Amino acid sequence: MTRDSAANGDLARRVLAGERRALAQAITLVESAHPDHRAAAEDLLAQVLPHSGRAVRLGITGVPGVGKSTFIEAFGLYLIEEGHRVAVLAVDPTSRRSRGSILGDKTRMEILSRAPAAFIRPSPAGRTLGGVARRTREAMLVCEAAGFDVILVETVGVGQSETAVADMVDMFLLLLQPGAGDELQGFKRGIMELADLIVVNKADGDLAAAAERAAAEYQGALQFLRPASRSWRPEVLKCSSLSGQGMAEIWAAVGRFRVALGEGGEGGEGGELAEKRAAQALAWMWSEVGESLMTALRGHPGVAGQVRDLEAEVRAGALAPTAAAERLLTAFFGRSVEN
Ligand code: GDP
Repeated sequence: MTRDSAANGDLARRVLAGERRALAQAITLVESAHPDHRAAAEDLLAQVLPHSGRAVRLGITGVPGVGKSTFIEAFGLYLIEEGHRVAVLAVDPTSRRSRGSILGDKTRMEILSRAPAAFIRPSPAGRTLGGVARRTREAMLVCEAAGFDVILVETVGVGQSETAVADMVDMFLLLLQPGAGDELQGFKRGIMELADLIVVNKADGDLAAAAERAAAEYQGALQFLRPASRSWRPEVLKCSSLSGQGMAEIWAAVGRFRVALGEGGEGGEGGELAEKRAAQALAWMWSEVGESLMTALRGHPGVAGQVRDLEAEVRAGALAPTAAAERLLTAFFGRSVEN
């Protein structure tokens, strides 16, 4: 055993023992872009993998201001009260400092972040959504191995990141707020189609009646959308993250969802949930292959040497994109490739 793998073995052992510092270190390792760290990260992941997979994986999305961090704080505290251990992760491929809210930022969930049964980790940085999502998936496995039995993955409702999160969780929860009747237009509709559960937040005080109306409206709209799962019809619930009202009902819906999708058997075998996770794992494998191939391709000297010229020719319309692609692939593989 090399020194590195011995050190890794120790880190894995401490993660499995639930040591918080080891968990943070392990996630830093899997998030690292350094090639040397990658080998150590893969070694660590191999050791924790057999101990992962036993958590409820929940994705949470909503536009900035809808109340995501307030909700996660209230929901997380409710879950802890119920005896769960909750990890909060995030997928945010945009510049992390450019917006007001930093997903997964501890200052946004101040009480939860101090709870020993909670672990909060902001979004890994990264240039591509694929890169960010891959690190979050790996962090999820590490958190599960450390004994967290509910994983909340937060993302912001402004683009492709919802799909990436929906592809790594069991259930996808869309937070909406009252008084936004025009929200069903355009891309909102696409996000609603990913949702297994719609929660109208801010159902309190002056907003209570509007929340009621919004919930009815969304319930109506759901009839025209294709459900994300074949054994579950999406539900609409209301909550107030400020008062904590509605958290128990949301957790109960998560439970119903899991039962509907066939959770409960040893290892969850046979049901839609097991199928979903298996499909997610396969898709993850292929996206790893894709990411790694692209990295290798871009770094290949023969490719790098002509990529600028080829790009310029394609942009100017002087060379067909297919022909340019063919040349890059030929440079990479050292022979022409058939497709
Ligand atoms: P995020 O950007 O989606 O994370 O939203 P925040 O959690 O930061 O909340 C945005 C604003 O909505 C804050 O001013 C919160 O106090 C407020 N807010 C969040 N949840 C509720 C709620 O349940 N009821 C009311 N009335 N306000 C809320």
